[in-house]
Amino acid sequence: MKRTIVWFRRDLRLCDHAPLARAVARGAVIPVFILDRALLHHPETGVARVAFMLDCLRSLDADLRSVGGRLIIRSGDPVAVLPELIRSTQADGIYSYIDYERIYGRVRDARLNQALDAAGMRVRWFEPTAATGALMPYPDYRQLWYREMSEALIPAPPTLEVPEDVVSDGIPTLAELGLLIDQKTIPTGGTQAARKLLQEFLTEKTDRYYWQLSIPSAEATSALSPYIKFGVISVRECFQVAQHQLKGAQDKRVQLSLKQFISRLRWGSGFAQRFRYLPQLELRSLYPICDESGWAFDEAMYAAWQNGETGFPIIDAAARCLQETGGWLSLNFRTRAIYASFLSNLLGIDWRYGALHFMRHLIDGDCPIDHYQWAMQAGVTHCIDKSWTRIYNPEQTAVDRCDPEGLFIQKWVPELAQLKPAELGLPQLAKGYPKPILNYKAARQTRVQQLEQQRQSFRRQRDIVPFLARMPESIVPFGADRFNSEIRWAETDQPAMFPPPLALDDLTLAQSQALRTWLVAHVNVNPRTKPPHSSSGKPPRAKRQPKPKPHPDGTQLNLLLED
Ligand SMILES: Cc1cc2nc3c(=O)[nH]c(=O)nc-3n(C[C@H](O)[C@H](O)[C@H](O)COP(=O)(O)OP(=O)(O)OC[C@H]3O[C@@H](n4cnc5c(N)ncnc54)[C@H](O)[C@@H]3O)c2cc1C
Repeated sequence: MKRTIVWFRRDLRLCDHAPLARAVARGAVIPVFILDRALLHHPETGVARVAFMLDCLRSLDADLRSVGGRLIIRSGDPVAVLPELIRSTQADGIYSYIDYERIYGRVRDARLNQALDAAGMRVRWFEPTAATGALMPYPDYRQLWYREMSEALIPAPPTLEVPEDVVSDGIPTLAELGLLIDQKTIPTGGTQAARKLLQEFLTEKTDRYYWQLSIPSAEATSALSPYIKFGVISVRECFQVAQHQLKGAQDKRVQLSLKQFISRLRWGSGFAQRFRYLPQLELRSLYPICDESGWAFDEAMYAAWQNGETGFPIIDAAARCLQETGGWLSLNFRTRAIYASFLSNLLGIDWRYGALHFMRHLIDGDCPIDHYQWAMQAGVTHCIDKSWTRIYNPEQTAVDRCDPEGLFIQKWVPELAQLKPAELGLPQLAKGYPKPILNYKAARQTRVQQLEQQRQSFRRQRDIVPFLARMPESIVPFGADRFNSEIRWAETDQPAMFPPPLALDDLTLAQSQALRTWLVAHVNVNPRTKPPHSSSGKPPRAKRQPKPKPHPDGTQLNLLLED
């Protein structure tokens, strides 16, 4: 009987899994997950995220057992482990999805390709859904995304045979991996838990999601991000379940919410695709000039921002919530954005310090989304034709729009529990609470001038390629000097990567223009004059529905842009 190794990485599920389905159709399967030191001890590793992943592995093992199989666990460098596994199991080769989340994985997979090639062994890489190796304009990618998301889900195999002679290590504990857990509560891992959350979202939250997704205390979002990050549920499954509800939805509130949810799923895929093209964005800003001129660094200010001691309640609440919960459920997009913008724009600290801190704490930490969002909030990528500067006012404006009843702030900053919501913007003399560490207006002005100056050089250029960052000479991850890490893999100059990045210097003008469409805004940006929700944070009642806006992406992006 033919034997195929299925190498699981960020796709810890049975349903909608092309490599697994194809391997089962061939014969016996060896479903393997490799605990890789380079990932477990990367500077951006979040221990809570590893804990969540271990739970997802336990669940994957149980799911495999329910169809007659089991998960095979190995530890070590996949470049050594996999050829050895092929040899010892007499498998024909490996099936796996292409992975382009970060540079490490691409270097690892290029080395694996070479090692297998040298040994005459085979691997077959599968393109993930809505991913492409081709350079296409963003509007075309948008179509590709909807097309592939609408294709039938690949059913989970009803039965599966894992050869009895293949032994497995146990799924380790964090302590066995040399990692120390902090106080965060870890959500239950696995596909069943993800499906339950999706159903709860559809039945309980879609009448208010659109209006409340920026209000952290409302917990109106799906909380699916850690599950999507580890591929415990496929984005296609989330899309199709949401799309199904959308087709039957009469209530305009539900329609708006579901369209917004689907857009956000698409944004996530889009960030991954940008990294597919430009993996250097993991390490640097899109335009080198933004890294070369102007970042400040002050250890005490960085610590105040990390620990929630800035004197700006919304920032301090976000800081403490991140450290205590890992952001899951409680730290929504808008709150993350305000918190991020404060570090890079108002404190003037390099966004990479912020992205590093997020990745070390977020349970849903995902390098392309996190790094690209950080760079966007810092104003160093995207939107090159517009003066689109995301400097959020962290004072009363933020409280009124994101925490109108003050519930989030009072939960995380108990020193301020006695204050009214209208006093939470910039509390004067609250006992035991720090004074503001900066002057918002002055800091904002400095940053606006700096960004304007930096953008002059590349704004409205027909060919932007000469202005884009190349892969840096050193691929040592940011933060390796601050945290004990396993980075030997990065100590080679310009190693091969699989999949390869865009060869910027070989692009034609037409290709350069296609790339440019990924780096500009596709919506009109007009600041809102009124918040999209009542001060109580409740959605409008069904009778008084707002008219659907022509482009919900655009309206949602605009909150807080004005002073
Ligand atoms: C500075 C910053 C860093 C971020 N880092 C991460 C990160 O590391 N991992 C992560 O998954 N999200 C990140 N986000 C995006 C967003 O905040 C989270 O996806 C969202 O809060 C997750 O909660 P949810 O699953 O309940 O969201 P929902 O609103 O229910 O969204 C459903 C799914 O859509 C995707 N999604 C939602 N919002 C966005 C967005 N703005 N950009 C891209 N995809 C989105 C996610 O996969 C999410 O799970 C970041 C945002 C900012 C501003």
